[in-house]
Amino acid sequence: MATHDRRFDFDFIVIGSGFGGSVSAHRLTEKGYKVAVMEMGRRWTPSNLPHTSWSLHRWFWRPRLGLRGFFNMRFFRHVTIFHGCAVGGGSITYATTLLAPPEKVWQAGSWSGLADWKVEMPQYYTTASRMLGVSENRILGPADHLLRRAAQASGSGHTFYATNAGIFEPPEGQPGGQTCPDPFFGGEGPARTTCVGCGGCMMGCRFGAKNTLDLNYLYFAEKHGGVIFPETKVVDVRPLGGVNDGSAGYEVRTVKSTARIFRHPQRFTCRGVVFSASSLGTMELLFHLKEKGSLPDISRRLGKHVRTNSESLIGARMPGWPEDLSQGIAIGSGVYIDEHTHIEAVRYPRGSDTMGLLTTILTNGQPGLRRVGLWLWNVAVSLVRHPWRTVRVLQPWGWAREFVILLCMQPLDGQIQMRWQRPWFWPFRKFLVSHGRKVPTYIRRANQFAEQFAALTGGFPMSMLPEILFDVPGTAHCIGGCVIGDSPDHGVVDHRHRVYGYKNMYICDGSVVAANLGVNPSLTITALSERAMSFIPRAAETAWNDAPSPTTHGHAETAGAVERGGNHRSSRVLS
Ligand SMILES: Cc1cc2nc3c(=O)[nH]c(=O)nc-3n(C[C@H](O)[C@H](O)[C@H](O)COP(=O)(O)OP(=O)(O)OC[C@H]3O[C@@H](n4cnc5c(N)ncnc54)[C@H](O)[C@@H]3O)c2cc1C
Ligand code: SF4
Repeated sequence: MATHDRRFDFDFIVIGSGFGGSVSAHRLTEKGYKVAVMEMGRRWTPSNLPHTSWSLHRWFWRPRLGLRGFFNMRFFRHVTIFHGCAVGGGSITYATTLLAPPEKVWQAGSWSGLADWKVEMPQYYTTASRMLGVSENRILGPADHLLRRAAQASGSGHTFYATNAGIFEPPEGQPGGQTCPDPFFGGEGPARTTCVGCGGCMMGCRFGAKNTLDLNYLYFAEKHGGVIFPETKVVDVRPLGGVNDGSAGYEVRTVKSTARIFRHPQRFTCRGVVFSASSLGTMELLFHLKEKGSLPDISRRLGKHVRTNSESLIGARMPGWPEDLSQGIAIGSGVYIDEHTHIEAVRYPRGSDTMGLLTTILTNGQPGLRRVGLWLWNVAVSLVRHPWRTVRVLQPWGWAREFVILLCMQPLDGQIQMRWQRPWFWPFRKFLVSHGRKVPTYIRRANQFAEQFAALTGGFPMSMLPEILFDVPGTAHCIGGCVIGDSPDHGVVDHRHRVYGYKNMYICDGSVVAANLGVNPSLTITALSERAMSFIPRAAETAWNDAPSPTTHGHAETAGAVERGGNHRSSRVLS
């Protein structure tokens, strides 16, 4: 730490504490840097997490309305995006599914050829999996067994698998809820309690069994001297001393994110900045800073290649089902009903029934007014045929206990663009506005599967109301917008995540992902961030002169920094 330049408050400021931000904070403190993490969301512990989703003020994030939770929904014309907002970013609300994508993703998109990804990445996935405590789920609940039966009935039973999850589960046959000293990091980490299979992962784990980032990466970042500023929103980042490329350091301005009147503005200085505010958050901040002149040289590729998995939420409700379908972990298992269609069994914990307000009778058909008409017809027919049961499945109470959500994903490359514009309905300020072709909300094969699933149990197949009414899909997996590219003409960062146009500035979050992954993205964001951080030299060795170098396809800059037994080294080799 002797290397810290006292003219600056910190060596590095990390903006956001999700997967990319936590990796950055941990690896930078480990290398001897003085690091601050600015996080807009609150810090959560088992004692202040909500018991059910009816505690809207502790679940939902809309601070201006007094809602200070950890889960946010952002509505765009093309997609509704779900994301986390907390110390630990999306890890507080995520379902813990941690999957590596197929190798072919490294040959697609603007990162193709910029590194020997297939050779380099496995070691970073291994490190990420170790840090996030990935293991195969052993707690299969009633919803998982039903998924297996439905897959068998449709001829795809052989594809059933238990998910890889980041949860501290008890040994086979033993009950959960046992507390023991750190089981993951040789006693260096916090004490942990084993999973009780309550299905509550997406409401935040009140048992300390989910491997959230505050229990691994951020825990070590703080242990090594990193400082986390919760409820602190970054509103400005500009180069210091009139040196436009940032080589003289940066000024970072913040406000208190949860305050409605006294916003407590603060100013910090640092030598380097890591943007880790998620795909949406980093795009939003960079658009704002580019336009206001704080960072005018950010590439014009900002906002391009935003990807959402092609996703559809369907399901089945089984009134009077003898088992509690909320038991298990949030996403316990999955199946592949055909080569392109992947379905996971998802649940909320008992009592968290608010999502039931958004589910309705399953409706087939192409999007548009016809589908809305068909939906009204289906509801009317169902009310005539089974009046009591139809009312029963349309009201929310008991929803989590009786419902199995089927999350259907297809690896279709649905790309949209985000621009910084005044929307027609609110011309007073600029926002992110989506453009491009709509991602389809109706996946016929998935609807058929929901019908088979419901038939098996005597339940009702169900759809999501917004998908039918507005033809807008929802996704928790928004990536891209600041993608890796060989030059500022093709990306916002180079393959080492260095921002084009600036020195000692990096982006480590889902926004850099340059291809459709086809699987949940958090493990990849973690692995990519591990790789990006491995190139940064130790604090004692840095010249504070790190800038992107345009690379041409086929002449990739090779990875010189490889983690070997925790010893990070850096060399810059140009082939
Ligand atoms: C309900 C749900 C379930 C999910 N389940 C899974 C799953 O099972 N598996 C999986 O792989 N993925 C899952 N995801 C997706 C996963 O959460 C994200 O892909 C992941 O968190 C993205 O990581 P990130 O590093 O890009 O940013 P995030 O983890 O989103 O973190 C960004 C952080 O930056 C903060 N921030 C934003 N702007 C600012 C600012 N201006 N100043 C300060 N702080 C700021 C935000 O508050 C946030 O905490 C799920 C998401 C949701 C919502
Ligand atoms: S199932 Fe319950 S105990 Fe297990 S990790 Fe999820 S929230 Fe925690």
